[in-house]
Amino acid sequence: APVIIWFRRDLRLGDHAALSAAAATRRPVIPVFLHDETVEALGAAAKWRLGTGLRLFAEALAKRGSRLVLRRGRALDLLKALVGETGAGAVYWSRVYDPAGITRDKEVKAALTAGGIEAKSFPGAVLFEPWTVETQSGGPYSVYSPFWRNIRGRDPGPALDSPNNIKIPSQWPESEDLSDWGMGEAMNRGAAVAAGHAVVGEGAAQARLERFVEERMTDYREARDIPARDATSGLSENLAWGEISARSIWQRAIRAREEGNTGADKFLSELGWRDFACHLMYHHPKLADENWRDGWDSFPWREDNDDAERWRRGMTGEPFVDAAMREMYVTGRMHNRARMIAASYLTKHLMTHWHVGLRWFAECLTDWDPASNAMGWQWVAGSGPDAAPYFRIFNPDTQAKKFDPREDYRRAFIAEGQADPPDTALSYFDAIPRSWGLSADQNYPEPIVDLAEGRARALDTYERQSSNG
Ligand code: FAD
Repeated sequence: APVIIWFRRDLRLGDHAALSAAAATRRPVIPVFLHDETVEALGAAAKWRLGTGLRLFAEALAKRGSRLVLRRGRALDLLKALVGETGAGAVYWSRVYDPAGITRDKEVKAALTAGGIEAKSFPGAVLFEPWTVETQSGGPYSVYSPFWRNIRGRDPGPALDSPNNIKIPSQWPESEDLSDWGMGEAMNRGAAVAAGHAVVGEGAAQARLERFVEERMTDYREARDIPARDATSGLSENLAWGEISARSIWQRAIRAREEGNTGADKFLSELGWRDFACHLMYHHPKLADENWRDGWDSFPWREDNDDAERWRRGMTGEPFVDAAMREMYVTGRMHNRARMIAASYLTKHLMTHWHVGLRWFAECLTDWDPASNAMGWQWVAGSGPDAAPYFRIFNPDTQAKKFDPREDYRRAFIAEGQADPPDTALSYFDAIPRSWGLSADQNYPEPIVDLAEGRARALDTYERQSSNG
């Protein structure tokens, strides 16, 4: 009886425990991807990026003589139908750690098992399974540095080679056509622009890692905070869709460290943050959509409002913030330093709820990850575990002077006022909906709020919150 591999956020053949286990059974393997409610719920950029990833992944399977079977509907119904059609005796998949994914997978596992089908989940999304990292007194970590001290010396084991013997079933079940799914539709004209910034597929992710290690890792520690420099790995986009495993990145960085690369340690500890986010979300599912800290539900953040709309459109009048927001809209990416500044400005200077920002990031990021996004927002907002101290209110102007001293980043994304704006800045106006009524030759907007006033207002509110508990 064949084994069905249910692919989700793990679009790769290498270091794929579920696929390797299926191949090792020597039974026919049927790779499937299901367009279920979790795919339906994706933001426009993530859905578009997933669509491009699926196309390449299906090609990679085809090169091995295999296929990717596509079906749309409710995961459990689809799997039951596929089991019925193919006579499969097992369904394997790689674990995810977000609450919606866990709920779905538990239901699938219980129902398939009850029907006599082997339903088995495998590790692979993170370096270390969340329940294997415990504090000395037992239980999960909520502060990063001890979490990091716990994992930094551990060995996640060698990355698995991609199996070279994926057995083909005697008959393939029918597949839907990817182009009928309209994965890029909500991206509108933005998709064409973002395509120039995406690096898609397993081979491209491996090459990206190699290039990063060889050309940029040595300077990573110093350069990673400068948004105008291409100094980070860019791998979050590939990690988000599982085109590369965290473990293979980890092992490559360890090797670089052994060879004397001085940037490797910092890079490894950043990769550790990704595991930490999954760890937190697995142990505290409320991280996804509720204030992680008790007592924060009464914090007087504003719900969605006109200022937040200006923030979304990159029209706050704060150049560093606007450059960040436009970078994201145009490329599907935003530099980490810029994410912190844009998020701080929304939650503190504009006193708007982090939910509002989290949702917009989920709509616009090609590397959208439920755990890293929620952890990032709650960290900046102050409501999360290991959060930034409340008095740390990023001043976008000071930050710009420090991290964008020559204005390269701001000029790259803000066309207004420039005699000869670069294509990146102009492409923003091609990507946005016409209904926003913006054009490159308008005047750059006045700031929504005076920075000192905004800071004082936020500080006052946060001080009261912190004395409340
Ligand atoms: P590198 O600097 O090359 O780092 C290597 C890898 O380490 C990254 O690919 C990523 O997997 C991991 N990493 C680095 N920093 C972090 C971090 N702070 N948290 C978690 N993992 C980290 N990252 C996402 O992948 N998806 C998101 O949806 C997301 N939303 C964020 C929202 C906010 C408000 C903030 C402040 C951060 C968010 N991040 C998110 C984390 C971080 O900004 C990105 O992972 C990083 O910018 C990716 O660029 P890179 O791959 O070049 O990173």
